[in-house]
Amino acid sequence: MKVRHLILLLGDQLDARSAALEQADPLRDVVVMIEALEESTHVRSHRARIALFLSAMRHFAAELGERGFKVHYRSLQTHNDASLGQGLQAALADLRPQGVVAVEPGDLRVRQQIEAAMPPNLQLQWCEDTHFLCSTRAFAAWAGRSKQLRMEFFYRQMRKQWQVLMDGDDPVGGQWNFDAENRSGFGKAGPGQIPAAPVFEPDALTRDVLALVEQRFADHPGSLAHFNWPVTRAQALSALEDFIAHRLPSFGKHQDAMWTGMPFGWHSLISSALNLKLLRPLEVVQAAERAWRERALDLASVEGFIRQVLGWREFMRGIYHLDMPDLKQANHFQHRRPLPAWYWTGQTRMNCMAQSIGQTLDYGYAHHIQRLMITGMFGVLAQIEPSELCDWYLSMYVDAVEWVELPNTAGMALFAAGPRFTSKPYVASGAYVKRMSNYCSGCAYEPQHRTGEKACPLTTLYWYFLKTHEAQLASNPRTALMVKNLQRIEPRESTEIEAKARELLSHLDDL
Ligand SMILES: Cc1cc2nc3c(=O)[nH]c(=O)nc-3n(C[C@H](O)[C@H](O)[C@H](O)COP(=O)(O)OP(=O)(O)OC[C@H]3O[C@@H](n4cnc5c(N)ncnc54)[C@H](O)[C@@H]3O)c2cc1C
Ligand code: SF4
Repeated sequence: MKVRHLILLLGDQLDARSAALEQADPLRDVVVMIEALEESTHVRSHRARIALFLSAMRHFAAELGERGFKVHYRSLQTHNDASLGQGLQAALADLRPQGVVAVEPGDLRVRQQIEAAMPPNLQLQWCEDTHFLCSTRAFAAWAGRSKQLRMEFFYRQMRKQWQVLMDGDDPVGGQWNFDAENRSGFGKAGPGQIPAAPVFEPDALTRDVLALVEQRFADHPGSLAHFNWPVTRAQALSALEDFIAHRLPSFGKHQDAMWTGMPFGWHSLISSALNLKLLRPLEVVQAAERAWRERALDLASVEGFIRQVLGWREFMRGIYHLDMPDLKQANHFQHRRPLPAWYWTGQTRMNCMAQSIGQTLDYGYAHHIQRLMITGMFGVLAQIEPSELCDWYLSMYVDAVEWVELPNTAGMALFAAGPRFTSKPYVASGAYVKRMSNYCSGCAYEPQHRTGEKACPLTTLYWYFLKTHEAQLASNPRTALMVKNLQRIEPRESTEIEAKARELLSHLDDL
């Protein structure tokens, strides 16, 4: 058969309705999927992340085959391509198509690699990624009209455009944002009974992949023992349905709370399915809104959830495409320290870090506040080089793809892009962790101590951070109060904090 188009389908483009597949003709085109080694090793990926991508890709290839597509699947076992570019060139040599069609990759690195691999005499047609609710062009136009790049304004426009939680031109409930109701800890009693997420028993295909990853990536971080992520669209839809039925009703109130032995809380656990494109954001948002209308759910919970998907997720993607490649080099505070080795093992006496990293190693998952206010916040307070921590996040989470990981880590958690798209650095002392979790009760340190033997590293480094950046933080209305509190500290104690902070910073590997 003479091949018309080679349809290149990347591992995070598993959408049967993608623009590239919609225009494909099973009689004349061939779909190519490549398990390139480099995608698992350019950062040392968590084994669950590798297994998720490979299993989902293989399931999707099988489904395409059932739908009549010819799939040229290049697995690690059969072809062992070192990189996407190499795999593409080999597939081009085998199939000799008249052209290549692909959906635009989420990550700039991948796009550049594919473009570089194309022979000059062959046409590459990029299709827009219609998974998203705001195109990169529309985002750039919005950014061009905006005085400030702030998620809240973008989100309001998206609510209006997609008529989500709207009452005519007004937001339902009379306000756009109910965040103030969504920040409770659990109190001493703890989280109580939280409905468990559904179980997806690994089928033969997933079991093969788990064995392959166990053997081939033995030196990579993370465990496969708890692997339970949706790997097909049917499983992804059932994960969504289960969340909407059982956890969405209480999602909001304790969204930020953390507790030992509670890796998932009331969270949806759908980010990996969304990022692989097994789920579509509009169906997720509409399912949540429908549940609110039909079951009179708490509006703060439903709005809080919808804001993450319709607001934050689309906003971060827009920012990535607007600000790359500069975002990858951004380092507002000029932090240069290496990442402590215990980020890869969880072996630290700081219990909040040990818990958050430990569950990350077990599941490839931590919820937003663990990522932002524990592992991320330590990074900014301990002056870690942003690229080191960005690589860690990209390695460790099953939902990690650069277009969403980088703006969250560099931009939001580390304030590496300065005030470009977040209004303040997210910093707090150990008192915040104590309020939002039970981590401090099992810790070698004391959250209220900022000096002395038992001083909590987060607390000491928080005050030192304020001192170091006092002028900058005082001029920002969102952080000015922190600086006022700093100025209440006696000069003698201030000197002691500084000495303690310097000591901690010089021994980060020993905390
Ligand atoms: C430092 C840092 C790194 C992050 N890296 C990633 C990443 O690599 N991939 C990723 O998908 N998310 C990332 N996030 C955002 C967020 O933490 C995860 O999306 C969320 O924890 C996934 O769990 P969930 O599906 O249970 O989400 P829920 O808490 O149930 O939220 C629902 C959905 O909203 C979306 N969402 C929520 N917050 C964000 C956000 N800030 N940006 C984009 N989408 C959001 C996700 O698709 C998520 O599935 C990161 C956040 C931080 C602070
Ligand atoms: S005392 Fe400090 S280091 Fe220990 S758990 Fe609490 S916040 Fe974390």
